[in-house]
Amino acid sequence: MTDLSLIPALPGADLPAAPQRLHHWIGGAWIDSADGATSARTSPAHGVPVSVAARGGRAEAEAAIAAARAAFDAGDWPHGPASARAALLLKVADLIDRDRAAIAHLEVLESGKPITQALAEIAGAADLWRHASALARTQHGDSHNSLGPDMLGLVLREPVGVAALITPWNFPFLIASQKLPYALAAGCTCVLKPSELTPGTTVMLGRLLAEAGLPEGVVNIVLGFGDPVGEVLATDPRVDMVSFTGSTAVGRRISANAAATLKKVSLELGGKNPQVIFPDADLDEAADAIAFGVYFNAGECCNASSRIIAHADVAGALVERVVALSRRVRFGDPLDPRTQVGAIVTPEHLDKIDAHVRAARDSGARVALGGSALNIDGLPGQFYAPTVVDHVRPDMPIACEEVFGPVLSVLRFESFDQAVALVNGTDYGLSAGVWSRDVSTCLDFARRARAGTVWTNTWMDGFPELPFGGFGQSGQGRELGRYGLEEFQEVKTVTMRIGRTRAPWVS
Ligand code: NAD
Repeated sequence: MTDLSLIPALPGADLPAAPQRLHHWIGGAWIDSADGATSARTSPAHGVPVSVAARGGRAEAEAAIAAARAAFDAGDWPHGPASARAALLLKVADLIDRDRAAIAHLEVLESGKPITQALAEIAGAADLWRHASALARTQHGDSHNSLGPDMLGLVLREPVGVAALITPWNFPFLIASQKLPYALAAGCTCVLKPSELTPGTTVMLGRLLAEAGLPEGVVNIVLGFGDPVGEVLATDPRVDMVSFTGSTAVGRRISANAAATLKKVSLELGGKNPQVIFPDADLDEAADAIAFGVYFNAGECCNASSRIIAHADVAGALVERVVALSRRVRFGDPLDPRTQVGAIVTPEHLDKIDAHVRAARDSGARVALGGSALNIDGLPGQFYAPTVVDHVRPDMPIACEEVFGPVLSVLRFESFDQAVALVNGTDYGLSAGVWSRDVSTCLDFARRARAGTVWTNTWMDGFPELPFGGFGQSGQGRELGRYGLEEFQEVKTVTMRIGRTRAPWVS
């Protein structure tokens, strides 16, 4: 292991002297839970207490839903001019930019991700608030002036109503910003529930919304666990829509819970995302993108490219390059700006990652690098080594289940059809990539891959303009692009008779 690039604890790092207290934001008030319950978060890298959050129960979830319902049914937010909503979203974007360093710092402490990455995510989040602001002002419906001389048809877009937004721990601020500004642009009111592991920056966002002048009750934040808070949000009849990002298992549960009241459900779930390497690919560029794709956010990323499907002619050379690059990726203290990969979110999650690698080894795969936890000087938290598992067979669990750690599986193929079959051979369909210098190979692949996003000769570039979401068990619905706004809208048809030209039905 000594030939890895490890970054020890940063001397004099800015660690909290005492944990931050975090409160629910309900109906414009910052409150504790009625029963006083709290949950504490410790930094995954440094092991220091970071936050103590109010732990919501049924009472807090129901109060937040009531506040959002009242703000929707009786407030001005859904019906006012979109220009006013757009102006508020822009103000929030500016406030996010102003507080970027503080938000990123807390994000690092709660999630374990590197500071440079957190800073980029917060800047990206501000950009999403600006994008949603632009959409708010340019949204419109349709008119049909071709239905006959006495008829006019209008198609109106209206907010869905009260939207419950449930987010995961791996990109807490960014994913909240993939949902909330779009819901607000559409005119919805919201209840936002962050992960119990990373509530801090969502609370900071609530403070910025209050500072920007958002009317009371338009956004409510309830802290706490999936059960009971998430369960109440998915079942309460006063909620019109649930927008969820998280695991496929919980997504399935939310879908079942929401079915009783037929809520609209939008799901962004897991992935087992492949990159296919054809023999004519630029292997150096592909290897670099593979390292980025698997180690970014310590592999705790729905978009991690955890499956490499390499042509048998180049697989050996590719694995050599990826192993060499992996040794140079800087794992360590997430507060050190040199660090590229930080800590694993919890000790339990680290054990799950390790169990996946051990099972693969036991069933005959070859661990070409890593395969164990890392000890890093001065850091008591949990880290996992960059890991490359070669000669994986498609029937092994590591080939089709989400590991959610810095672990790459390498499979081999010989023909185009075989590669496509392997790509489409899991229950997931979030994203897929192809590496070839032949544009026809890339296009053919892009059309046959069952995935919501296909990258050709690149990995994980994202833009607010482009929709994001999954096929199959990677989810339903889309975020970002104009689709990201439309998810939060209903479509209403208004059919108008102009004048009294209709012959009486009763003669
Ligand atoms: P998770 O499913 O455990 O939790 C996500 C959220 O759901 C948390 O806020 C949690 O408290 C809540 N929750 C848990 N049980 C619930 C219930 N019964 N009802 C309602 N809410 C409930 O996921 P996680 O571990 O926080 O995040 C990792 C997962 O998220 C991975 O599978 C990853 O692939 C996925 N993810 C997907 C995307 C995407 O855009 N497709 C993005 C990021 C993460």
